[in-house]
Amino acid sequence: EPIISLRNVTKVYGTGPTAFQALKGVNLDISAGDFVAVMGPSGSGKSTTMNILGCLDVPSGGTFLFRGHHVETLSRDQRALLRRRYLGFVFQGFNLLSRTSALENVELPLIYRGDDRKARRELGMAALEKVGLADWWDHTPAELSGGQQQRVAIARAIVTQPEVLLADEPTGNLDSERSVEIMQLLTNLNQESGITVLMVTHEPDMAAFAHTVIHFKDGLVERIEANDHQRGGA
Ligand code: ADP
Ligand code: ADP
Repeated sequence: EPIISLRNVTKVYGTGPTAFQALKGVNLDISAGDFVAVMGPSGSGKSTTMNILGCLDVPSGGTFLFRGHHVETLSRDQRALLRRRYLGFVFQGFNLLSRTSALENVELPLIYRGDDRKARRELGMAALEKVGLADWWDHTPAELSGGQQQRVAIARAIVTQPEVLLADEPTGNLDSERSVEIMQLLTNLNQESGITVLMVTHEPDMAAFAHTVIHFKDGLVERIEANDHQRGGA
């Protein structure tokens, strides 16, 4: 059974004459362990869908099943618990604390979770190792390249060992060489740690790394493609 199921999900922003229907009845099943690229024109509903899948926002109508939980019925606090326990987030702009070392950035979710200092160091360093930046643990973001900053952000996203990684245009600020490195890293995390990866991208070259490509159009899923490769790279 899928880890994520959306059924007839609608989303309306605002009320009255200015109300806008961003999602018009989205149906989607995502299997645990899949690597999914979400594509589609600007305004087609990608971010709205990612916000719902990330338990940051709720549908106006329809159902969202995550690991068997009906998320649309949960309170804000219950959604925050799901987020902290099962989800990791990566953004286009990295969103790192600039005056803080790579390791301290990676440890942040563990501080929120209440881990002690020793556990934080161990898990933080293990996550930095996974992204190939263990030697850079005491550098601040300004001392790192864009590609390295995104690796730190990915380490921060996986340090809690989430089941699902949500990445909103993770390569949007990177040149093509760095972008491919990030896609290879996501591929490794997907294959070796079994993390389900959901990534928004505008770039077909990046979507080619995914196993499943979901195309949005006008607030609906227009079509779903299966990439038949196993190892990514067009
Ligand atoms: P992208 O095209 O990269 O997805 P958007 O401009 O659609 O970016 O959205 C960026 C953020 O602004 C999102 O969090 C989205 O929910 C919000 N947003 C987009 N359009 C509006 C709007 N008309 N009014 C208020 N917030 C909006
Ligand atoms: P995409 O990510 O595909 O660019 P979005 O999901 O961000 O699309 O937006 C879908 C539509 O909903 C767009 O027309 C956008 O302007 C609108 N929208 C998004 N967020 C908001 C918001 N908070 N308030 C009003 N309109 C919004």
